[in-house]
Amino acid sequence: MVELFTCSHYRFASAMGQPVRISLMLPRWRPEARDWPVCWTLCVRWRYFNADDWEQQYLAQLDRYGVAAIRSELEGIAAEHDTTQLVLLCFERQIDPHGCHRRTFARWWWRHTRESVPELDPAPHTPLGERWATDQLTQTGPGQYEVSSVEEPTEEE
Ligand SMILES: [Zn+2]
Repeated sequence: MVELFTCSHYRFASAMGQPVRISLMLPRWRPEARDWPVCWTLCVRWRYFNADDWEQQYLAQLDRYGVAAIRSELEGIAAEHDTTQLVLLCFERQIDPHGCHRRTFARWWWRHTRESVPELDPAPHTPLGERWATDQLTQTGPGQYEVSSVEEPTEEE
């Protein structure tokens, strides 16, 4: 079973797992990123990249591929790199719940599989950072989703 995480290109560290690019662009300051695998089913597309309704278009893309095809691509990447931990990477750091596709994917994945995809960028300057792991996506109609966040007990030492 493959465990999924998300992080920004800025804060990714190799101890987190196998990096998987889901951004269109490469992080220029990380030359090693040229060798990272790309998950095409989860990449945004140029045609809606800057559109106001990019999130709905991205969700429609995820719905079109579906869980089975996405899982199969991710498991193939994991097997090829001999790992069980994949870290899905894109650029955004200071973002709201609708500001970045890696968290949109995480919510969609949770909605359909009940498997959570924690965010690993601590983004201390982003108050929303901590609760992304528990954001839920509720389908309210065909191609329509709503985000709600759920309080989970925090683990304390
Ligand atoms: Zn993103």
